[in-house]
Amino acid sequence: MTNRDKFGYRPIPLCDGHIHITFAHPVDTTKKILDDTMTWYNCERIAILGLQQDSKKHCDPGNNLKALYCKSRLNREYPDRHVYAFSGIFHHYDERDTAQGYLAQAKALYTMGFDGVKILDGKPKMRMNLGRRQDDPIFDPFYAFLEEHDIPVTMHLGDPPEFWDINKISEYALKVGWYCDETYPTLEEMREEVLSILDKFPRLRLTMAHFFFLSQDLEACADLFARYPTLCFDLTPGGEMFENFSKHPDDWRTFFIRYADRISLGTDTYNYDLHETLSDYGTNADLARTNLVRKYLEWSEPFEHPWYGTLIPLGLDADTLTKIYRGNFIRRLGAPRPVNASLTAETAKAMREAMADGTMCCETEERTALEYQNLDIIENYFKNSEE
Ligand SMILES: [Zn+2]
Repeated sequence: MTNRDKFGYRPIPLCDGHIHITFAHPVDTTKKILDDTMTWYNCERIAILGLQQDSKKHCDPGNNLKALYCKSRLNREYPDRHVYAFSGIFHHYDERDTAQGYLAQAKALYTMGFDGVKILDGKPKMRMNLGRRQDDPIFDPFYAFLEEHDIPVTMHLGDPPEFWDINKISEYALKVGWYCDETYPTLEEMREEVLSILDKFPRLRLTMAHFFFLSQDLEACADLFARYPTLCFDLTPGGEMFENFSKHPDDWRTFFIRYADRISLGTDTYNYDLHETLSDYGTNADLARTNLVRKYLEWSEPFEHPWYGTLIPLGLDADTLTKIYRGNFIRRLGAPRPVNASLTAETAKAMREAMADGTMCCETEERTALEYQNLDIIENYFKNSEE
C-alpha cells in the first residue's frame, strides 16, 4: 500500500523538488525517514533543500552535510531512485559577510557536489536580518558563479500578501510573528529585488517556491514567465494558492497547461519521525501537503479542505501532470552530481570546529551533542568512501 493506492492517483512517479531535514534526529534515522517517505509517496526523485544557517543561535550546523550524506547513501542503496541535495547558505550578519566570502561559498558547494542552492533571504524576517537588498552587489560574484556553472536556485520570496495587512492576517500568523509592519519592505519591493537579480543574471535557473506568492494574480504570473525565460515556480503549499486558483479554475487550468514546462512539484515534506510502519505516513495530517497538491491537480470534483474551504481542482491531463510531477525536475537537474567525499569529510570536521569555537551553535546542549555525533558519522562515512 502506498499513498497513490490509497487515493487512486495517476500512476506517474513523483519528483519532489522541495524536501527539508528540519527535525533533530540521528542522521541515520533521517535517512530511514527519507527512504520511507519516498516509498510511501511514490517518489522516484527528491531534492533535499538545505536550511539557511547563520552565526546566531537556533542553528543546525550540519544541515547541508546531512543532505549530502542522505543523498550519497540512498543513491548507493537504490540505483533506480535519485536523491539530490541543495545547499543552504551561511550569513554572519555582520562585516564578516563579504562578496569574496559568498563567492567562496558558491565555489565550495559546487565542488562538494551539491545539485543546487536554496535561498531563504526573502522570507520577510530573514530579509530583515539580512539588512540589505537581495540584489545587493555583495551577491553579484555569487550569482555570477551560479549562472556560469548552470547551478539551479530555489528561492523563497515573501509570504502571502495578507501578512502585510493587519486586518487580513490570520490569528495564527499574527501569533507566530509573521505580520509585516511598516518597518518591513513591501512584498512588491522584495519581488523587485529578485527580478533585479534575474535582470543582472538572465541565464540563472531560478525557481520561486510557493508560486512566488502570486497565485492571486494570473496576469502577473504570465507576464513574468514571458519576461524571464528561465524563471519557474514550484507548487509547495502556501495552501492559499489553491484557494486562489479555485476562484478562477478554468483560467488557471488553461494557465497550467500552457506553462506546464515552468511549474514543478514541491511539498515542504520534512523528516517527520513516523517510525512505526510505512502506512503511518498516510494517517498523519501534517503530512498531507503532497495530498493537497495531488488532489488539487488531479481531481475533478470539488473537495473540502479544513483551512482553505471548498477547493475546485484542475483535473489536469496526464501529459501536463507528467511535466509538473517529473519532466521539469529531470530536465532541470539531470543526474545527481557526484559527492566529493574527501572535501565533504573535511567540511564535517571544520563544522565541528566552528561549533567548538562558537561560530555556529545549536539551541540546546542536547542538540549540540546530537550534531557532534551526526558530524562524526558523516565525516567517517565520507573518509572511507569514494564516489
Ligand atoms: Zn521549504
